[in-house]
Amino acid sequence: MRSTIVSSESQVRADDRAHVFHSWSAQGLIDPLPIERALGSHFWDYQGRRYLDFSSQLVNINIGHQHPRLVAAIQEQAAKLCTIQPAFANDKRGEAARMIAEIAPDGLNKVFFTNGGAEANENAIRMARLHTGRHKVLSTYRSYHGSTATAITATGDPRRWPNEPVAIGVVHFWGPYPYRSPFHSDSPEQETRRALAHLRDTVVFEGPATIAAILIETVVGTNGILVPPPGYLAGVREICDEFGIVFIADEVMAGFGRCGEWFAIDHWGVTPDLITFAKGVNSGYLPLGGVVIADEIAETFRERPFPGGLTYSGHPLACASAVASMQIFKEEGIVEHARALGEDVIGPELAILAEKHPSVGEVRGLGVFWAIELVTDREARTPLVPFNAAGPAAAPMNAVAAACKERGLWPFVHFNRLHVVPPCTITEAELREGLAILDEALTVADGFY
Ligand code: PLP
Repeated sequence: MRSTIVSSESQVRADDRAHVFHSWSAQGLIDPLPIERALGSHFWDYQGRRYLDFSSQLVNINIGHQHPRLVAAIQEQAAKLCTIQPAFANDKRGEAARMIAEIAPDGLNKVFFTNGGAEANENAIRMARLHTGRHKVLSTYRSYHGSTATAITATGDPRRWPNEPVAIGVVHFWGPYPYRSPFHSDSPEQETRRALAHLRDTVVFEGPATIAAILIETVVGTNGILVPPPGYLAGVREICDEFGIVFIADEVMAGFGRCGEWFAIDHWGVTPDLITFAKGVNSGYLPLGGVVIADEIAETFRERPFPGGLTYSGHPLACASAVASMQIFKEEGIVEHARALGEDVIGPELAILAEKHPSVGEVRGLGVFWAIELVTDREARTPLVPFNAAGPAAAPMNAVAAACKERGLWPFVHFNRLHVVPPCTITEAELREGLAILDEALTVADGFY
């Protein structure tokens, strides 16, 4: 009989290469690094090499790796009740939903739980369609909403292309992006006006009576940490109100402290109709996501059944971890910590790097959610690698990433950008250590300038 004990790095690699089918990858062209353990802001490979996690594992572990209280809460719940199907009431399911409703904007009081972000968006769109009796969904080109059928169709970025055609009824529009304005604006204020005029035109020409929802990432994540310019989100709210459209705020990446507020949208005091979340709700210690639902939409399903569900919806273990995570966030002031790190350390330090390195075109962000956009010409804003670069075209960014990894920092790289997205719990000393490594790695980017 073959032993199933995995003890060595070579065994981990062999099993992975033989049997694991990886996301988003050509299976024969990848060589995933085996990881043995993690703690706080770091993880370790089998050679004992330590990496400072400036990626937060797909911008997920807001609370850091292996938070002892969160691990203990999961163990405690596992000893009591691992699973019970969604039709039952359960203490942790109810407590998690109540705590999420308490931190959500006023008037959003119910939570539908899913296993992750894509399912959250699928179900938010389903709710919007059933609530309005309309079918179209408008979402932006620079977006990622997940890889299930409707979520990947709503996604604007190139991950959608090889999946088409999947779902029907999705229309894309341009969101604001002052640094590379699709509207050729000269200022954030002009960008807001033009982006809203474009959105309104899109609604009018698509036929308002056919549009169920506008789905946007409150702060666009993978597609560039695009912080909405002043007045944009309030303007989207007004357009939704004018035409009876459901406003879905995708906070899967931006929510739960990442932007220095519980929900990113709290920065602008705007209330959407549905908020989708996942990742930071429990830092992915167990799969969990969901939709926070406005009372008016919840009311639609008071007498009429909601025609959707998941075996693991409101999974007790996952919900127990969300409850513990939110308690820890409150007791340890993690949201405030994330905000202060952005204002006092990341923002000022990245501004210094932008002064120093010609390859830095722009830095932007808030909380612990930042991007460094790399260019080969500041005036022309030519990206260091082209949009959707892959293979040899991506080599300059791969060189920058390699320079980070050699120095013990695990970066988050997307096209021509380095995203600075460490855990919300990172200490100031760790953060400064990571930024010093980025400073060195940026000299590699300068070499392509
Ligand atoms: N929405 C946003 C904004 C995301 O960043 C992601 C994942 O990165 C998703 C949705 C999809 O979440 P999941 O991978 O949990 O399905």
